[in-house]
Amino acid sequence: MFFIGVFGIGNKNKNLGEVNFKCTGCIGEKFSLVELSRSFDIFFIPVFKYSKEYIIVCNKCRSVYKVKGEKIPKILNTKIVEYDDIEKIILETNTCPHCGTSIAGEYLYCPKCGKSLK
Ligand SMILES: [Zn+2]
Ligand SMILES: [Zn+2]
Repeated sequence: MFFIGVFGIGNKNKNLGEVNFKCTGCIGEKFSLVELSRSFDIFFIPVFKYSKEYIIVCNKCRSVYKVKGEKIPKILNTKIVEYDDIEKIILETNTCPHCGTSIAGEYLYCPKCGKSLK
């Protein structure tokens, strides 16, 4: 699964459903809201949960944004994420204007069609 490579093994990810947000990497507006929680285990018994984090992932280009934790009740209510709710961009994916390929990272030229992205 996609998140395991990014956040490491041991996280328990919970999909909280679909939310709306205007993606800065593509024209997508549908995002998945995901709760990342790491439980602290002693002798295999979960002792307490710490560091809950919330991210949204663009369903189209897979851009990942970290959402402020205190905004979660509001977001679950309205299903809308605003720019003010975003703590930081974790991964912004660009879309090639020529062939539509999703590109993660800083590229001057599209790795697929070779045309300039600027
Ligand atoms: Zn997107
Ligand atoms: Zn391209």
